[in-house]
Amino acid sequence: LTLHFRAALLPGGWARDVLVTIEAGRIVAVTPGLAPPPGAECHAIGIPGLPNLHSHAFQRAIAGRTERRGPGEDSFWSWRDAMYRAIGAMTPDETEAVAAMAYAEMLESGLTRVGEFHYLHHAPDGAPYAELAEMAFRIAAAAAETGIRLTLLPVFYAHAGFGGLPPAPGQRRFAGDLDGFARLLEGGARAVAPLEGAVLGVAPHSLRAVTPEELRAVAAMRPGHPVHIHAAEQTREVEDCLAWSGMRPVRWLLENAAPDARWCVVHATHMDPGETAALARSGAVAGLCPVTEANLGDGVFDAAGWGEAGGAWGIGTDSNVAIAGNGELRMLEYSQRLARRGRNLMAPAPGTSTGRALLDSALSGGARALGAPAPALAPGAPADLVALLPAPGLDEDEALDHWVFAAPDRGVDRVWCGGRAVVRDGRHVARDAIAARFGAVIERLRDAA
Ligand SMILES: [Zn+2]
Repeated sequence: LTLHFRAALLPGGWARDVLVTIEAGRIVAVTPGLAPPPGAECHAIGIPGLPNLHSHAFQRAIAGRTERRGPGEDSFWSWRDAMYRAIGAMTPDETEAVAAMAYAEMLESGLTRVGEFHYLHHAPDGAPYAELAEMAFRIAAAAAETGIRLTLLPVFYAHAGFGGLPPAPGQRRFAGDLDGFARLLEGGARAVAPLEGAVLGVAPHSLRAVTPEELRAVAAMRPGHPVHIHAAEQTREVEDCLAWSGMRPVRWLLENAAPDARWCVVHATHMDPGETAALARSGAVAGLCPVTEANLGDGVFDAAGWGEAGGAWGIGTDSNVAIAGNGELRMLEYSQRLARRGRNLMAPAPGTSTGRALLDSALSGGARALGAPAPALAPGAPADLVALLPAPGLDEDEALDHWVFAAPDRGVDRVWCGGRAVVRDGRHVARDAIAARFGAVIERLRDAA
């Protein structure tokens, strides 16, 4: 396969008239300054595929179904109860169908690898499936069907709150002990084994859901592989952690879990300046999910301050309420503008492009968090590429700024994973079948709920 881009973002920066040769799913040659030879597929703007470092695929099933005002205080916690109810009856077939929809949409928006923070393990009554890792196999099947790269992060979830409280009834599909989790991990390894480039990490759910001993045990189960944890998403969680330990959540993690570059701290919304500086120094990636954090009313992550402290970050679609790579980057920058009453706050220096800075950080931080090679249009790299829609009259960085801030939708023309075109004209190649199956599942779940 030979692709030609009028402009492409290479490791050293933009190049024009770039010929990319792909063999057996990998890029074998990248040559700027060439006219397209006969038979080459021609595109406008080429960039590496973006990592999506945090997803709960099954939550795609409640997009648009939790936006009606509730009876009391409507908050993250009432949303969570609604989510537990809405997905309480979801079967393995339905979970696979919902995940396929979510993954097809991720690919349609240029997200070519997903970190699936996977905690829907058990049957609706909490009983283990005959194959304990049944749901991991369903996630892997959805990844295989759509062609997205998978970093599977099986979640350890044992408690309803700080101090080892027993899990609530709504959490019985997630909960288990350490022995069961070791077997879930073993099943997860079998589930992802057939997938090219798949990675298996671990995810202690949060400081509310694991004890300190469990956290240390889980983090040690996959040495050298990603460890993801939710932390400091909600102010109530910060207050509860202070009451339990005398420390804020990120401070507690720093003192007790020694996070390093294989860690991804998801959200980390509420940190004080000392936590920000120390977590940035640790090498842990901040897993930012700006659209979900806005949807759930979490608060604003100080991304500009995190950047000044040298912190790495990537983006995640988390609840999958609206799946778009450019949408996450736009919301991130806009949240900073609203909080600081300035503009172009994520651009590192005068004259630099905000879209370019956002993309560069999301590529490198996201890949690190997912235990994947840094996405690059370079020989030897996996052929995971995105062709953006053309932005007539703009230079290359402006085209990225247009994609982030001005595109009317996902702004993606074509996407390749492992050299295979999985999105054409902005649509996943199996969209019709996946969307039909998904629609039937949503109807069934609404009736059941
Ligand atoms: Zn999450």
